[in-house]
Amino acid sequence: MFRVREGRIAASDLAARLEAQGFRLRTLEGMPGFLQVEHGPRPVSLTLEHWLGLLYVQQASTGIAAPQLQAQGGERVLDLCAAPGGKTTHIAELMRETGALVAAEVSEGRIRGLLGNIYRLGLTNVLVVAADGRDFPDGATFDRALVDAPCSGEGTLRRRGGRPPDQSASFLRHVTRVQETLLRRAIRIVRPGGTILYVTCTFAPEENEAVVSRVLADAPVELEPLELPVPHARGLTAFGDQRFDARLEGAARVYPHHLDSGGLFLARLRRLDDGTPARPSAWRPVPQVFPGDAMTDAQAGSLIQTGVVPTLDHFGVDPSRLTDLGWMTRGGRLWLHGATSWPVESWSPGDWRVVSLGFRALEFDPSGRPRPTNDLLQWLDGACTGSTVDPDDRQLTELLAGAPVAWPMELSGLQAMRWRGRVVGRGVPTTAGLRSEISKARARDLAAVVSGGSAEVRPADD
Ligand code: SAM
Repeated sequence: MFRVREGRIAASDLAARLEAQGFRLRTLEGMPGFLQVEHGPRPVSLTLEHWLGLLYVQQASTGIAAPQLQAQGGERVLDLCAAPGGKTTHIAELMRETGALVAAEVSEGRIRGLLGNIYRLGLTNVLVVAADGRDFPDGATFDRALVDAPCSGEGTLRRRGGRPPDQSASFLRHVTRVQETLLRRAIRIVRPGGTILYVTCTFAPEENEAVVSRVLADAPVELEPLELPVPHARGLTAFGDQRFDARLEGAARVYPHHLDSGGLFLARLRRLDDGTPARPSAWRPVPQVFPGDAMTDAQAGSLIQTGVVPTLDHFGVDPSRLTDLGWMTRGGRLWLHGATSWPVESWSPGDWRVVSLGFRALEFDPSGRPRPTNDLLQWLDGACTGSTVDPDDRQLTELLAGAPVAWPMELSGLQAMRWRGRVVGRGVPTTAGLRSEISKARARDLAAVVSGGSAEVRPADD
């Protein structure tokens, strides 16, 4: 099961590409933008389309959540527990990459996976922040927040081969405390009238209805009854001798049999106006220079000018391709993003760190010549009309293995390497021949795709 990367390819075009490779696909009622693989010659995660970020492998159950946040284009949205990014990337697409989506994650290890997915899908409006969501900084309010809380994961039983989750009393005490603290934090940060979606992938009422029930008792929120477009059950109002707020009936439970998938609990809350005086907007235009960098705006402007114009020119890219996007310099590199404002300068001091905004797009070699990143070249894709090369399967396999490939014609400067009509990364002509500059990890994954799956298979996303 996978989600089509809205905005980069039409579902019909993606389906046609995959069907031409032998995949049999079907649509799912109530889940626009998702396709189920009925039969395929290999895992869909081993296709060029996956490698390029034209699709995201995701269980049906988890694909339900993001639309229920109801995020609109141009809004300011917070995802408090973001990695590995299944819902972050889905929300960003639903926002049509306009506005700003702040993706917070506490685990440094899992942030790497989150970034990998955001960059692979080429999303421009996501600001990734390393932070403990329980202490997420004050200072700027959001229109909506998703709390996809850490949980005991009973709903992932099938994916874990039936291995039961940790359900010890001490773990349950710890995790429910974390869940409630995260939910209360999200409520505090969302503006009156805004939406908070609480999600877990477990069935345990202690982690679901019990948490939301306690919060409903004293926080300025109302529960908004959910009507999911897929089969589901209502939230519980009692379990054993426990009683929950009667409004929990408006929450939703998705059990594995509903979608032949994992499990999910969802509750949507509306932030009430508790009389707190409205604060002036703490969102500010995204600066050209990353805060703390030793560079003036004029220097940044000149770096952008000397980097972007010749790069677009070299690859024959129409500059209108970058309309509505902005550049930010950080550490001497240029980041491309689609956020018009961000909250960073207004955040209270604390243990948080901005990891990325949009994606790193341009670097400079020691002589100051601009070098587009592989992410930028892939993102530009068909907009590259010059300085492109089309290696065949054998040539690409050699290039990905790190070997130079003799090229029949003289090449001038960096090249956008295409395979099967799509740009896969940067090549550089050397005296020994053309060389690939795709990173080792990405090259290994692409080599597996080129070999048709006979090489190493990486696990699918979620
Ligand atoms: N939303 C993700 C997706 O759709 O791909 C899945 C999120 S997973 C259920 C929960 C995530 O919360 C984990 O990545 C975990 O590391 C993170 N997490 C746990 N405690 C956290 C905290 N206090 N603050 C922020 N993130 C936390």
